[in-house]
Amino acid sequence: MGGPIQAQRYVPSRYISLSHQDDGTLLLYCSRTGALGEVPAEDAESARKALLPKAVTEGPLTGIMQDLAEGGFLVPAGTDEASAVHDRYVRRYDDRRLSLIVMPTEQCNFRCVYCYESFLRGEMSAEIQEGLKRYVAAQRNLESFTLSWFGGEPLLAREVVAGLSEHFQRFCADRGIAYAAQATTNAYLLTPDYAERIIAAGVRHFQITLDGVAHEHDKRRIGANGEKTFARIWENLRYLRSTDIEFNIALRHNFDPDGLPRLPDFLEMLKAEFGGDPRFATLMRPIGKWGGPNDSQLNVCEGRSANQALLEARRLSVGAGFRDASELASMQPDGYVCYAANPRSFVIGSDGKVYKCTVELDYHDRNIVGQLHHDGEMTLDWRKMALWLETDGMDEGKKCGSCYFSPSCHGAVCPKEWMDEVECACPPTKHNIKETLTLIRVESLFAAPPVAAAVDCPRD
Ligand code: SF4
Ligand code: SF4
Repeated sequence: MGGPIQAQRYVPSRYISLSHQDDGTLLLYCSRTGALGEVPAEDAESARKALLPKAVTEGPLTGIMQDLAEGGFLVPAGTDEASAVHDRYVRRYDDRRLSLIVMPTEQCNFRCVYCYESFLRGEMSAEIQEGLKRYVAAQRNLESFTLSWFGGEPLLAREVVAGLSEHFQRFCADRGIAYAAQATTNAYLLTPDYAERIIAAGVRHFQITLDGVAHEHDKRRIGANGEKTFARIWENLRYLRSTDIEFNIALRHNFDPDGLPRLPDFLEMLKAEFGGDPRFATLMRPIGKWGGPNDSQLNVCEGRSANQALLEARRLSVGAGFRDASELASMQPDGYVCYAANPRSFVIGSDGKVYKCTVELDYHDRNIVGQLHHDGEMTLDWRKMALWLETDGMDEGKKCGSCYFSPSCHGAVCPKEWMDEVECACPPTKHNIKETLTLIRVESLFAAPPVAAAVDCPRD
């Protein structure tokens, strides 16, 4: 804590949200800074008054008022917060950062009932792998590189994933580039030896789906030849739990309205095996119609009821002692912006096609924005790129322009939606912010750094 902040007049930030707790504590969130605050009961009333929309607090600030200013909840009168938010957002064009979501194969060893993929292509050729290495090597200003393995099931292409991860780990270490790698995998092939190999190659974050206890999971996440899949995934996870290797696993659970009442039994099972191990977190997702052939037969949670169902699922998982794998990261500035809206994020198909969205893939020509060539050149169609990068949602008079949550979301939570719908729906956290703050407090995460999430389309 520094000395008293200099004399000035302070007003509340336009980007804050408050949640009053039963014990008198006041929980605060500022989407411009990502700060979370927990004001003790004895200071809660003075903090609340200082944060009323037209309040003015005279400096110099000390005590709780100083804390409020340091978190960005109070700002010097006249501060142009909207410009600061915009300036930060346009840094996504900065060529010092690069994020690649790579599909080393588009085949999958599962046929999940809600899947939207079409399994058109096989393993990435040696030439495209070489093109990928050359493309990254040509990024002269690179300071930070994120590599996300996606599919199909990426681990079907085991040597591609391991070999390229090892290559990029060395490449980044030699040049002082910050490197993070992650994988969205069904974990059927994440066997002990292989898991150790790719974790050593820097693949530290995993998103792995379990759709309930064994017989529930096996009804939805079916092997390509009709086989059951739960037991083998569970064994792979248990092995990782038994080690002291550094990794993070987001245990994703997709639920439908009928599945919610069964969630406590599933969480009990997770708790017995993985509870108390901070490397395991949960990621609750209501099943939606994601574009697969079974969509019309799926029982899905939609609209407001999906938000309520999600909140209930989160309450249950936090009650079982698990933290949410993505909430804190999403609440950071730009945290809810879909990777498709990031000019420095590309999805690379196994044949070198370049996409923006991981849901639409090649169902729609607009999503095929370019091609990665064998020599490392990436040709891009900037007319198509612009469809994914720019929205008018923040324009004056539109709902995002006056939204307290906009520094996290920028109306860019789903570019696919801003093209296809009248307007982009808000992320659930915006609607559930008071309950979300309460849950974060229960998780004891008010002072925790956000954990990087694996590839996570905000809309599926
Ligand atoms: S949020 Fe929308 S644009 Fe982004 S990956 Fe998901 S469906 Fe595609
Ligand atoms: S989409 Fe919703 S939450 Fe996001 S900026 Fe717009 S109004 Fe705010």
